[in-house]
Amino acid sequence: MIKRLVFIFFIAFPLASFGQIDEREKIQQMELDRNAQKQRDIRLQLDTAIILMENEEYLAADEKLTFVLKNIKSVPSDLAYYFGENSYHIGKYKQSIDWLNKYIQLKGTTGQHSQEAVQWLKRSEVERLKEKQAQNLQAQEVLSRDYDIDCGPSGKVTCPVCNGSTVIIKKTYLGETYKTCGYCHKEGFLNCEDFNNLLRGELKPDTP
Ligand SMILES: [Zn+2]
Repeated sequence: MIKRLVFIFFIAFPLASFGQIDEREKIQQMELDRNAQKQRDIRLQLDTAIILMENEEYLAADEKLTFVLKNIKSVPSDLAYYFGENSYHIGKYKQSIDWLNKYIQLKGTTGQHSQEAVQWLKRSEVERLKEKQAQNLQAQEVLSRDYDIDCGPSGKVTCPVCNGSTVIIKKTYLGETYKTCGYCHKEGFLNCEDFNNLLRGELKPDTP
């Protein structure tokens, strides 16, 4: 009986704890393997994205690059570069400028992609500026009423009030009534100045 207790305390316990250490190490090793596999997968996705970019399949490349960004903790500089360049190709200029600047901050002028990064950055900045100008134009709402419409070489336009007939037909419950058009002076057309004033609601009809 005592021998058995001795066995349990001095031999079986230490063996059991050795076993636990083995188990823990195995789990740690599996964890490391899993991480290494994940890193390889991510690297593969990045390499695929670069090939897609070379084939000008920028939207597909964007999908891969976005996947890589979502699955890593710290961004390697070449990923910053590729994501920045690819963002230019899919028209995301602000995003492109952001990542290319990040790359240049990281690598300065001596990085593997520094020269290209500067070039793509310039292009993105030009496009971004155009975008902003377009947005400003929209915000200002340039309205046609502020401009004179060019009536063409004749300088005349068929009177839109009477459709050139010089007569305005009004339908009432008594039948149709006819009235001479007060806008085109019985000519059926307007000169360009009158036409533009009419469009602005500023042309006064002849008083009958
Ligand atoms: Zn008329």
